[in-house]
Amino acid sequence: MINVDENKCIGCGACIAIDNEHFDFNDQGLSTVVKQEVTDSVKEAKDACPVNAITVEEQNSNEEQA
Ligand code: SF4
Repeated sequence: MINVDENKCIGCGACIAIDNEHFDFNDQGLSTVVKQEVTDSVKEAKDACPVNAITVEEQNSNEEQA
């Protein structure tokens, strides 16, 4: 599960520059997730975000949801 906190995002575009398959600008010029799939580039984009607006949770198929 990938999430962008729009209250934190400043629209710098770093995540989109790194991975425009999973991130894109919305109407407000902020980043939004366009594809829910955790890849290495998604993690790179997360690490590149200057305001830590991106959270990435890897899905663990062995773990049952409560
Ligand atoms: S890198 Fe962070 S602040 Fe910049 S557009 Fe992406 S989510 Fe927003």
